[in-house]
Amino acid sequence: MAMLPNDVFQTELGHVAHTLLTPGPTPIHPDAVRALMRPMLGHMDREVFALNREIQADLRQMYGTAPDTFTALLAGTGSLGMEAGFANLVEPGDTVLVCANGSFGRRMAEMAARAGAQVRVVTAPLGEAIDPADVADQLDGAQLVAVVHGETSTGVLNPVPQIAELVRGSGALLTVDAVTTAGMEPFSMDAWGVDYVYTGAQKCLSAPPGLAPVAVSERAFERFFARRTPNPSWYSDFGGLRDYWVHQTYHHTVPVNLHFAFHAALRAALNEGLETRQRRVQQMGEAIFAALAPLGFSHYVPQPAARLPTVLALRLPEGLDDAGTRTRLRDRGISITGGLGPTAGLIWRLGLMGEAARPEPYRDLMVALQELLDAPGLVQRYDEALTPVLQR
Ligand SMILES: *Cc1c(COP(=O)(O)O)cnc(C)c1O
Repeated sequence: MAMLPNDVFQTELGHVAHTLLTPGPTPIHPDAVRALMRPMLGHMDREVFALNREIQADLRQMYGTAPDTFTALLAGTGSLGMEAGFANLVEPGDTVLVCANGSFGRRMAEMAARAGAQVRVVTAPLGEAIDPADVADQLDGAQLVAVVHGETSTGVLNPVPQIAELVRGSGALLTVDAVTTAGMEPFSMDAWGVDYVYTGAQKCLSAPPGLAPVAVSERAFERFFARRTPNPSWYSDFGGLRDYWVHQTYHHTVPVNLHFAFHAALRAALNEGLETRQRRVQQMGEAIFAALAPLGFSHYVPQPAARLPTVLALRLPEGLDDAGTRTRLRDRGISITGGLGPTAGLIWRLGLMGEAARPEPYRDLMVALQELLDAPGLVQRYDEALTPVLQR
């Protein structure tokens, strides 16, 4: 990148370099950092509209959907993407079935209830995936089904293709939270039959936080246009979004500089190739596990098929000082994340999204842990596990 002097980035508290291994946000892609330095343009500028059209086309590719599917960026984080789905597609009194096997599923249930829905919740034991049979049992009469693809709070991958197959025949719409999967794991909006999907810019795409990329099916638009009551959310209204993203008329001032950065990050992801990225995550996860397992770390999610590749959830060895170790890592400029709620103190959640899923940042972690945990051989095991990958 075009380097600025280091003191531009130096704050009283901060360092120039930081190893960010959390399950979001992720390190910003260098192309996106460069794009952030572009001179500001107006939100109605023709160059911005041209850039937006490229973003829309690239999003269709990422989500696996047809060239006429509506895609857009909402000016907010992933949670705005979540909320917009319920605001636009739910009317008071509708029955919404929410698959909730972690904190983001529960956030969906809360939002559906606030949109006035009668909420049915399908759950699963902590660390396990939603059973499609439980969805089938509760499906009758539901107008909308909502599921989190990758449950970040527990590192669980839910079987969205199987759930989607059930929903397809039922007449209900399907909303999928792809925040920890889109851009890094297989996703096929059209083949699966997904009606609304969203992610957050700062997760698998390594763009700055503040944008929620969404895709909306034709069926979802039909439901939206047939509403008996107005959408309570003016800001995230599908009609308003279409005004700007299709008809190029003013709705609200989009954060143009974030669009620049997002465009660059998404292009970088597609240039790398979605399948290459899937392989990269898989290989990194295997190498990290091979290095840490001899210390007593084990997979938190028992079923291999239910493990979310982009969030490696590891049960801590007996006696490991969770908070103390993470504080000492932070002192060295390395951030990792522990458990949430019932898994606090029990697990670490290592982010393998976007630019975090690279050999170098995790090597920083291994070097630090080798010393902090007095674990000779840790770095060597990590290097050896990655050697075949790096030689390819
Ligand atoms: C991070 C996350 C969200 C919320 O995104 P924010 O950008 O924090 O608003 C929603 N769902 C999942 C699965 C997430 O990991």
